[in-house]
Amino acid sequence: MHYVCTGNCGCTSETPCVCETEGCVKEGKPMIECGCTDSQHKEAIDKTNKGE
Ligand SMILES: [Zn+2]
Ligand SMILES: [Zn+2]
Repeated sequence: MHYVCTGNCGCTSETPCVCETEGCVKEGKPMIECGCTDSQHKEAIDKTNKGE
């Protein structure tokens, strides 16, 4: 399990946190929990799309 920013920075984290990338569209937003194994982060992206 990992956490992904679904903005334009594309950063990932092993722990829950918010995006801290200056200028990212998701800056200050919580990163999304993701369980993918192929680094595509489709799971996180799907969750983001559902929520918006
Ligand atoms: Zn970001
Ligand atoms: Zn992922």
